[in-house]
Amino acid sequence: MENSTKITGGCLCGAVRYAVRGEVQIGYNCHCADCRRSSGAPFVNWAFCKVEHFEIVQGTPARIEYAGRVRSFCSNCGTPLTFQNPQYPDDLDLTVCSLDDPEPFPPKGHIWLEDKISWVNLEDGLSRHQVMPNS
Ligand SMILES: [Zn+2]
Ligand SMILES: [Zn+2]
Repeated sequence: MENSTKITGGCLCGAVRYAVRGEVQIGYNCHCADCRRSSGAPFVNWAFCKVEHFEIVQGTPARIEYAGRVRSFCSNCGTPLTFQNPQYPDDLDLTVCSLDDPEPFPPKGHIWLEDKISWVNLEDGLSRHQVMPNS
């Protein structure tokens, strides 16, 4: 994908806006307990990009380091925005539903199903992984 591509997103209240000048790749629906608690939702759909392509264009997100991973969110409205695992310092995960247009970024599967809430029923035919797949 060419570098002129620009994908934008932000939080509910509009205080934080971001842009990705590069490729955003589809990721997984994560059912881990940390994503669940940090979002207040049964699972979180993630996409990802290169850190160098990501730019905050308005506001300053708050950051929380938990379990060795860094999450960012709007300090005003609480929208979860990004996730970074220091093991992969070049990659940045984005919450698909903070993107202005989430439509092009469907999940490619489900991860951390060992944490999944029992009443979440997955009948979408996507791949399922008990933890994080290697690829
Ligand atoms: Zn906000
Ligand atoms: Zn997770």
